[in-house]
Amino acid sequence: MSKTVFISGASRGIGKSIVNCFAKKGYNLVMVCKSSIIQLEEIGKIISEKYSVSAKCYTCDVSDSASVNDLFRRLNDEGIEIDILINNAGISYMGLLQDMTDEEWNQVINTNLSSCFYTSRAVLPQMIARHNGRIVNISSVWGKVGASTEVAYSASKGGVNAFTKALAKEVAPSGISVNAIACGFIDTQMNAHLSSFERKSLFDDIPAGRPGTSDEVAEMVYKIVTASEYLTGQVISFDGAWM
Ligand code: NAP
Repeated sequence: MSKTVFISGASRGIGKSIVNCFAKKGYNLVMVCKSSIIQLEEIGKIISEKYSVSAKCYTCDVSDSASVNDLFRRLNDEGIEIDILINNAGISYMGLLQDMTDEEWNQVINTNLSSCFYTSRAVLPQMIARHNGRIVNISSVWGKVGASTEVAYSASKGGVNAFTKALAKEVAPSGISVNAIACGFIDTQMNAHLSSFERKSLFDDIPAGRPGTSDEVAEMVYKIVTASEYLTGQVISFDGAWM
């Protein structure tokens, strides 16, 4: 029977590429976004027709514990079990820390970090019972080295990296692997605010000379979840040797 992959932030960017990559390989999909349900359902329709897989689409605010619990109750009612969890949904915030409100801080931390807790807590009982499961968290190089004017984002992704390593230790005895990909500059809407001058100077700093693509990240996710479960607790940089 085909395995089922849960992908948050599936309506565009890296999440959309992950959806395509796994659909192509015959996996069934649970696709989640916060509000872009029309785009999400269009993607789901296209891939389910093209690859003959199940592509279920849901809105869920992964920064909100109750919203995640509601979604997993619904999945449970529909008899859907998750074999692979991809925590991809995320938001960025640029600005000086001193100008940031509590609300803005909490939004970044809850969307990028607490979401990993909420979804992992929901899927782990099923994975532990099956003694099998894979979790991949989409992190950032800023979680390793920090970025000026992106303190909250860097802190959230640093938290994701520590979360990944700690949870991997906790669930390795249950046959579950937990890894993260620390992406560098990936060409998605998240970076659409940059001018062509800013983009060029960033690319000049990346030894590979270009941004990564969301399809390349998706292939990395696939390689990680199809590797031996002995690959666990790793935060793998994917940044063209940038950092
Ligand atoms: P993106 O194009 O902005 O897409 C973000 C996705 O996350 C959308 O599907 C969005 O859904 C969803 N989302 C945002 N907040 C959500 C919430 N509260 N609940 C549920 N879904 C939510 O971003 P991306 O560039 O593909 O980034 C994906 C991941 O990669 C993020 O975790 C990001 O931090 C990480 N990353 C990206 C880069 C980069 O250079 N792009 C670098 C390092 C790490 P809606 O459409 O409904 O809003």
